[in-house]
Amino acid sequence: MITRSDPHFKCDRRYSAKEVEVDSHYENKQTTLEELALIEYFKNNSYHVRDKNILHVGTGNSTIVNFLYSHAKSIDTITISRNEILSGLSKLPSSTIRYLFLNKYNIRELSELNAYYDIIIDVNLKSFACCEFHFLEMIEMFISTMHKNSELFTAMSGVNFGWNGNTSISYTPGASPLILENNFRILGEKGIQNICQKYDLSYKKTLVHNVWNYHGIHNINNLDPIISDEEILIIKKNQD
Ligand SMILES: [Zn+2]
Repeated sequence: MITRSDPHFKCDRRYSAKEVEVDSHYENKQTTLEELALIEYFKNNSYHVRDKNILHVGTGNSTIVNFLYSHAKSIDTITISRNEILSGLSKLPSSTIRYLFLNKYNIRELSELNAYYDIIIDVNLKSFACCEFHFLEMIEMFISTMHKNSELFTAMSGVNFGWNGNTSISYTPGASPLILENNFRILGEKGIQNICQKYDLSYKKTLVHNVWNYHGIHNINNLDPIISDEEILIIKKNQD
């Protein structure tokens, strides 16, 4: 029997952003640890993003887009929440930022993206995937937009996180209602290694210490921040 973690497992079809649209209200939530760690890293290593064409996956509350804006040449930020787009546009309307309503696990919708990016940022590569097959289609699409010097940034907390739900607000209608079956969404470092081997990529890790965060919390009244370390992964092509 083919299980959901099998690379050949495929849900019934690709879903449009409209079909998987979420009402998670991340536009009003606190920035996640992963993205705050990336911002800290880029503050000290701004050459990664300076004058670069950037694809950012998961608009959220736009904090990282707002940070990148002062460095980047252009930013495409994608989301399956129209509220996040409206919020982003209200904070920072700019001709160099495109807010795109797209489901990344549907490569037909990804055809709206640029042919090439210097930097791709996605802290939850697989965490909400509908199935292994459409996840790998997305990975191949991302890689096809990278040149030799492009870098794909992700973070270990997101690599080790897979959303196990499938509710009425499901991000992915193709996913199983069985919680255990959704464990395939946990990519893990082993999954990163497998992808690197399959597509001739390499990655390095760097640790960001003492990131103050309220990881995705909505209301922070009277709460102390969490202070965490986060490991950032930088994935590159070995050759063009
Ligand atoms: Zn699928």
